Amino acid sequence: MEITENISLKALNTFGIDAKARYFANCKTVKDIEEILARKELYELPRLVLGGGSNILFTGDFGGTVLKPDLKGIEVTGEDENFVRIRAMAGENWDGFVQFAVDHGLGGVENLSGIPGNVGSCPIQNIGAYGAEARDTIERVEMLNVKDLSRSELHGHQCAFGYRDSIFKRELKSKAIILSVTFQLRKKPVFVTSYGNISEELNHYPDISLRTIREAILAIRKRKLPDPAEIGNAGSFFKNPVIGASRLSALLNDHPQIPHFLQKHGEAKIPAAWLIEQCGWKAVRRGDAGVHKNQPLVLVNYGNATGNEIIALARDIQKSVKEKFGVDIEPEVNLV
Ligand SMILES: Cc1cc2nc3c(=O)[nH]c(=O)nc-3n(C[C@H](O)[C@H](O)[C@H](O)COP(=O)(O)OP(=O)(O)OC[C@H]3O[C@@H](n4cnc5c(N)ncnc54)[C@H](O)[C@@H]3O)c2cc1C
Repeated sequence: MEITENISLKALNTFGIDAKARYFANCKTVKDIEEILARKELYELPRLVLGGGSNILFTGDFGGTVLKPDLKGIEVTGEDENFVRIRAMAGENWDGFVQFAVDHGLGGVENLSGIPGNVGSCPIQNIGAYGAEARDTIERVEMLNVKDLSRSELHGHQCAFGYRDSIFKRELKSKAIILSVTFQLRKKPVFVTSYGNISEELNHYPDISLRTIREAILAIRKRKLPDPAEIGNAGSFFKNPVIGASRLSALLNDHPQIPHFLQKHGEAKIPAAWLIEQCGWKAVRRGDAGVHKNQPLVLVNYGNATGNEIIALARDIQKSVKEKFGVDIEPEVNLV
């Protein structure tokens, strides 16, 4: 198993941050991963598991081992009257998997079309978009336990999925490497077109199908979000804050126009993009770090921004949102 030293991670993170990894291992098999984990000289060093690098911000060089589980394969593992179970390996490209599902007429992940990154990362923050979340279809997650190299599985209901959250960001953080994810996809798809402007976009298509929903969502995303191949970014930098009922009514007193979406138990989700825009951050640029011109939730690297410049901008945004609205906004992106 080859380990390279002092490599630049610029091409391996969508923010395009030029950080270096002391050691880097591209693992094509589970045995490769086990070998890296068992190496004595690497044992004491920090370790980072890297997927597509689309939800990571490097704030400096990484003085340990970056391990990329480049495991490939998609296979049907079971079927009943209503569902087909498909196991996809961690290193498969997420959108390639969505395309596979749509091509086979299987429903459940089409609304998650166009999200960058790998299959192995989809449970970590329970990726979501356009009224769907990864947890809707995840049947089980297979993982390698870092400490003793044992393998185990968690069923979807054991993953403590929440809004951009799961057990893998909490109790199992740095303890488990996801090897594969098994999805339960519908033979008779249920179309979700009420979210955002999907139904409006679908007017341009001859029918409503898995294929046209996917195409409509790809078209909307292309218009709304910057392409990391052109301008460095990691999608939404902040999560939408969820606040309690009493905080909401106080906030509505001061800012009656505040958009909000009621959740369970009287809580409300507030679009962070709106809060950030109200604080005057839209399209602000500081050197090569900036806030996207159309989507204030997305921080961008115009070329040679450092992770610390992006973080400094993010902190100032958080501070001004707190001062104006008294609301904390938390990063969705993983800071390394
Ligand atoms: C333009 C753009 C649009 C986006 N849109 C969305 C969106 O609509 N919805 C959404 O939810 N997200 C979105 N994202 C964020 C991102 O694409 C997702 O979070 C994606 O799942 C990250 O996958 P990745 O493979 O790139 O993960 P990485 O960034 O490589 O890693 C993310 C985290 O997961 C850990 N990790 C990765 N692989 C494994 C593994 N096999 N085992 C254990 N830990 C692992 C890493 O250590 C890290 O902590 C967007 C990003 C971009 C750039």
